[in-house]
Amino acid sequence: MKAAVWYGRDDIRIADIPEPRVTKDQVKIRVRWCGICGSDVHEYREGPMIISRKPHPLTGKSSPIILGHEFSGDVVEVGEDVKRIAVGNRVTINCLIYCGECLYCRLGEYNMCLKLATVGLAWDGAFAESVVVPEYTVLKLPDPVTYEMATFAEPLAVAVRAVKRSRLKVGDTAVVVGAGPIGLLVLQAARSGGASRVWAIEPIPSRRDLARQLGADEVFDPARGDAGKEIAERTDGLRANVAFECVGNQSAFDTAVRVTGRRAMIVMVGMALKPIEVPFFRLWGHEKEITTCTGYVDEFPAALAFLADRRVKVEPMITAKIKLDDFVEKGLKEMMRNPGQYIKILVTPEGEL
Ligand SMILES: [Zn+2]
Ligand SMILES: [Zn+2]
Repeated sequence: MKAAVWYGRDDIRIADIPEPRVTKDQVKIRVRWCGICGSDVHEYREGPMIISRKPHPLTGKSSPIILGHEFSGDVVEVGEDVKRIAVGNRVTINCLIYCGECLYCRLGEYNMCLKLATVGLAWDGAFAESVVVPEYTVLKLPDPVTYEMATFAEPLAVAVRAVKRSRLKVGDTAVVVGAGPIGLLVLQAARSGGASRVWAIEPIPSRRDLARQLGADEVFDPARGDAGKEIAERTDGLRANVAFECVGNQSAFDTAVRVTGRRAMIVMVGMALKPIEVPFFRLWGHEKEITTCTGYVDEFPAALAFLADRRVKVEPMITAKIKLDDFVEKGLKEMMRNPGQYIKILVTPEGEL
């Protein structure tokens, strides 16, 4: 079968490789669509980041490995012990592969598994014609969720978890700093979670338009004026209860501190690769909290429900659809050349778009 195989930094090859085979408890999925995640671009440009340099302790995988973790498809084969999933099911997956034995697995906190692996990073992923995964990862799609929409279940599960970690309550106000692919989903998840008003802060005009279209009450350009003051004016000086930092750098974090009020929560959703300075004195006086979130545990059913009833809209976020053959040139390289222009590029291994 055809697959996009990561061999190393700047070295992803569209190769013809043997079809993966199912064992007892595994499911084979014919891939319909797979979204390109920012982490795929990182692995291509500066990897290995999450890809293991040594064989992964749980899966034994390192490079070469097939990327791709935001996908949908049809079940074409199941192992003899598979009960819940059948050939013909339309599905997506929860990408976490876990040991099932460590303390965190026994507590059901799978994203904390001591041997955690992710499909598409430590297990062959879905920039391929087919992918084989354990049955426990597979989720059936509700009828209204198309294959294209279902590629957003994974990043939306991240967004739902970010909202849970924020402890946002009905009626709270929220600010999303950075309206990229994750920020736009967090914005909608916060709305679905009961936020009374959600503001977005984003420098790129096309992303500001999308944020407005997807439910932001107002959108501010950080280059023009002081979003902290604007939000203070709209909240009787109280500022927001929650901020989601969806960029991962110092200036976005500083903005999150400015736009939030006393006893506020700041969730670091963006992957900050460099250290960030924290003005603890300002947080101290206001009893502000900072938290992080990583992956998901059981947020997929909520994500699929939000997609099914269109509470979370993802179609406007699809900025391009390409073929697997063009994954590097029209996918990864294009996102590197024009990072502001793309929200989500979907890739299909099928012949026709
Ligand atoms: Zn991702
Ligand atoms: Zn574990």
